[in-house]
Amino acid sequence: MIKRLFFYTTFIMLIGLISFFAVSLYITHTNNIKFAKDTVMEAARICAGMYSDEVDDYSLVGIGNDIRITIVASDGTVIAESRRQAATVSESYLTRPEIQAAAAGNPDAFIRRSESFGINFIYYALKTDFGNDYVFVRAAMPIANIDTYLYQSLPLLVILLCVVVVLCSVLSHAIINRITRPFESIEANLRLLSRGVYEPGNITGSYEEVNQITQSIDDVSNILQTSLNDLREERNKLDYILNSIGDGLFVVDENMNIALINAAALKFFDAGADVTGKNINYLVYDQTLSGAVAGCVVQEKNSVFELTLGGRIFFAAVKRLPDTTLSMVVMSDVTDVRENAKMREEFFANASHELKTPLTAIKGFNELTAANNKDDKLNKFIDSITRETDRMLTLISDMLKLSELENAKTINPVPVSLAKITGEVLDVLSSTISEKELVIEFAGDAEVMAEQSHVYELVKNIIENSVRYNNNGGSLSILVESDRQGSRLLVTDNGIGISPEEQTRVFERFYRVEKSRSQKNGGTGLGLSIIKHICLLYNWNLTLKSKLGVGTEVIVEF
Ligand code: ATP
Ligand code: MG
Repeated sequence: MIKRLFFYTTFIMLIGLISFFAVSLYITHTNNIKFAKDTVMEAARICAGMYSDEVDDYSLVGIGNDIRITIVASDGTVIAESRRQAATVSESYLTRPEIQAAAAGNPDAFIRRSESFGINFIYYALKTDFGNDYVFVRAAMPIANIDTYLYQSLPLLVILLCVVVVLCSVLSHAIINRITRPFESIEANLRLLSRGVYEPGNITGSYEEVNQITQSIDDVSNILQTSLNDLREERNKLDYILNSIGDGLFVVDENMNIALINAAALKFFDAGADVTGKNINYLVYDQTLSGAVAGCVVQEKNSVFELTLGGRIFFAAVKRLPDTTLSMVVMSDVTDVRENAKMREEFFANASHELKTPLTAIKGFNELTAANNKDDKLNKFIDSITRETDRMLTLISDMLKLSELENAKTINPVPVSLAKITGEVLDVLSSTISEKELVIEFAGDAEVMAEQSHVYELVKNIIENSVRYNNNGGSLSILVESDRQGSRLLVTDNGIGISPEEQTRVFERFYRVEKSRSQKNGGTGLGLSIIKHICLLYNWNLTLKSKLGVGTEVIVEF
């Protein structure tokens, strides 16, 4: 850049200086001509005024060294000539343009080559009367004389021109250097910035304005470097976090190419880091996964699903990242969780089965003992055994129901009347209801498609809770509604209610709010779990609304 700048400035300078000298020479030359013209005109006029028949070559010599005077007779012959050494010209002078102009009454100056001397002269002639005749008085001056000084000073001017050019070149080189040097430093620093090793420096040594610009660039670079460092640090942190988490995570762009993938995901797919930038199918060919990702990429549809890869079960979620064209997939390996749950369920089912047989035997033997007992003192113990074995059998029966619901593979739905089932439940619970003097309101009916035993368990557990956890003299409302959206069961009581913190836990197995009270009421904490599982089995919507000390409402939307 410096070389080019230097070349251009020197070239422009040279053109400028040459033009300046050329114009100056031209103006000086023109002025000289004008001056010469005035001089010859003046000389011609004076000589014309002084003309007499005594004028001869010798008298004309005194007029001046540079000026040549020629007296031409009306017939064109030369009467007198101040330059006696002029070659004699035989032809008539009347053909000369200055003589013709004078003869025509329009005297003017003419520059032409002199035939007598062989050099360029400026000529001017005047016609002056003499007696009955007339003569032409002609003054002339050699052009070479006019520009003599100009020609003499030309070498000096050329030397001056060269000196000025050299001086200007040196000066412009120094100035260009001074202006551009800081930019070279900035350029080198910016290169360092791109490699992340920028070192801010006080770049000065140029003109104030340039220093200000370079300083501003330096400041901006400094801010950029800091931001880049921060970004790099954030990126490293993010990479560290992403690669530390056990869940697999990857992000795809609008072309379903992988934009980012963490270590866990690479492990799940048994892939190398080179998958970044490649299509999702390069990672794994799984229709469920690519279908869900395509749905998210094309229709911005978020989804959750299960996936089996290499014998392991994954819970996957596909989500569109807000304000981007990117979609994120998060995968959790739930194989162990599933296996544990399966083992627990199996244990639950097996233990219930194993306990039911001996308990039934104990109950039988107890009944036998009661029938044959003659000792009144033992009756108290026999009653206790009866109560406890009944409680345990109920518990085992609930546990088995839960296992059945969890493992239910097929269901045989039939139309079931909700009013009929509710009636049966109320019959079963009638003694407790009258004991507690509860006011029951029951209205509506609808048929649902389900297994009768499941509907019975559902309705029984909901109403049983509302009876069990109600106050004496409380009320209970059972409503069956039906409209275009479907049918629903609403069971509302004004019992003890459940606090908001407990509401989320009551659906857990064996969870009871007040253990002693539930136990006294005969509760085992499995009722709401059974309700939840029945609803899950049929995809029914279950809602529990409750306020402590006010009451509870359970809604099942079929
Ligand atoms: P089970 O129903 O197995 O005989 P349980 O009634 O104790 O026993 P759940 O039906 O699962 O168990 O209920 C769990 C707990 O939720 C109960 O112990 C009780 O504290 C609370 N609960 C349930 N329904 C109501 C209700 N309608 N009003 C107040 N508390 C309730
Ligand atoms: Mg219950």
